[in-house]
Amino acid sequence: MENKPTSSNFIRNIVVEDLESGKHKEILTRFPPEPNGYLHIGHAKSIVLNFELADEFKGKTNLRFDDTNPIKEDTEYVESIKEDVHWLGFQWDNLFFASDYFEEMYNRAVLLIKKGKAYVCDLSAEEMRNYRGTLTEPGKESPDRNRSVEENLDLFNRMRQGEFKDGEKVLRAKIDMASPNINMRDPIIYRIAHAEHHNTGDKWCIYPMYDFAHPLEDAIEGVTHSICTLEFEDHRPLYDWVVRECEMESKPQQIEFARLNITNTVMSKRKLKLLVDEKVVDGWDDPRMPTIAGLRRRGYTPEAIRNFCREIGVAKANSLVDSQMLEHFIREDLNKKAPRSMAVMRPIKVIITNYPEGEVEWLESEVNPDNPEAGTKKIPFSREIYIEEEDFMENPPKKYFRLFPGNEVRLRHAYFIKCQDFIKDENGKIVEIHCTYDPETKSGTGFTGRKVKGTLHWVAASHAVPAEFRLYESILSEDEEENKDFLDSINPNSMEILQGFIEPDMKDVKPQDKFQFIRHGYFNVDTKYSTKEKPVFNRIVSLKSSFVINK
Ligand code: ATP
Ligand code: MG
Repeated sequence: MENKPTSSNFIRNIVVEDLESGKHKEILTRFPPEPNGYLHIGHAKSIVLNFELADEFKGKTNLRFDDTNPIKEDTEYVESIKEDVHWLGFQWDNLFFASDYFEEMYNRAVLLIKKGKAYVCDLSAEEMRNYRGTLTEPGKESPDRNRSVEENLDLFNRMRQGEFKDGEKVLRAKIDMASPNINMRDPIIYRIAHAEHHNTGDKWCIYPMYDFAHPLEDAIEGVTHSICTLEFEDHRPLYDWVVRECEMESKPQQIEFARLNITNTVMSKRKLKLLVDEKVVDGWDDPRMPTIAGLRRRGYTPEAIRNFCREIGVAKANSLVDSQMLEHFIREDLNKKAPRSMAVMRPIKVIITNYPEGEVEWLESEVNPDNPEAGTKKIPFSREIYIEEEDFMENPPKKYFRLFPGNEVRLRHAYFIKCQDFIKDENGKIVEIHCTYDPETKSGTGFTGRKVKGTLHWVAASHAVPAEFRLYESILSEDEEENKDFLDSINPNSMEILQGFIEPDMKDVKPQDKFQFIRHGYFNVDTKYSTKEKPVFNRIVSLKSSFVINK
């Protein structure tokens, strides 16, 4: 088959077989988020898999909101999910809400009751737990298990009419209390919840449980391959039972794959929501969040995320992916795209004492040495410049090749300068460095008289534009331990804010513009805090990594 974006994997093989055997003429997949939070990078894996698989075989993909739990769901999440799926580069064929099927689901539940396959149960939640049995012991039957069809129909209807309080009654599938699979021991399929639903308002006060609703949603839409994560493997017999006993015409196949986990990365909506609610971060799109919105604000591109998702592949066993792998893909994507520029994040002033006062030279530099087509640009040079604080030391250790008294270094795109003196303030802090330059050493003139070991980046003070830089580290201070309270493992230094300077041609940058600041890494203009007066740059990644990708 043509147009092959995905490499072979066991799910793709199932699809190929189903098309070759004629089981399906066309495939239909779906991405079924619950609108109870923003999407994260784990969801991206599922999105890329579902959309690209269907696309490869000229099939279709639905975006379906699995909105069967009114308590946690919200339209803010619905909107953010739509935006994120689009931004990742995908277009769904149909947009559905599980809540649109509530009437049909109710009717299928009534069908089960009529067939003697479901009953209303009055046990409390705790009693039900006690009756359920364990992995080694069978469960006990509920005293309500043998209610008549008429009584069940009447009670279920009255549940719908709002006669009972939350938790007073549930509807259960009548399957097998002795099943070795606990999911099959008369699971709850409807519960009472007097709660406002974001879509259906107060029309319903009973809501279907995930294990009942999901297979029906898939079957109603004619989904052929219902791809979900591994923890649902033990639920598959129930999935198939619901499709069969509810007499659904279409028979979707549930296939499980390993969820994405990344080192040092929170990957659960519940915990991400906690970070937002506790104001540990500045919203769902905080650049430290592994949400799609956070990665976007940090500066990740859809291409980098898609390439990452393709590379990690689809497997049947859970594993942990190194977070450096994601960083690898954004570096790879931005290397060609991002213009180079010099920025000083921790400035200290250098005065070039033998350079004429008031003079400005415009020096040439390549926009991107890795992409000659990007052309060249001019940068100003004058008597006063800023360099990084860390590029000067009064008493340097051995092998320090940057600026120190008596030493000569190269200024990138400009001249060699030699440190003659420095000035301290009353607290002993170095505030100014005095250098001389050698006019013979101008960059681009082919000067070969002598060599220097250090090359520094700099910004001309006369033309420097103030800017803010935000540097990030993982939000978790260490690999999260199972029993430790999650909020205790937060890294208190996950964000550092610095005030520095950028080159003058950068003053009109717009949110989401991306650059490589030489020696510092790749940066993205922040969408929330950047202003015309003062650009704010989020560091996406630093330049170097020890990570090697095995190809
Ligand atoms: P979380 O555990 O983060 O709350 P969820 O599974 O409850 O996620 P849903 O909105 O139900 O979130 O997920 C929508 C789809 O995304 C499901 O098909 C689910 O299997 C998939 N998905 C969620 N997390 C991951 C992950 N880490 N890796 C791969 N797929 C995922
Ligand atoms: Mg879920």
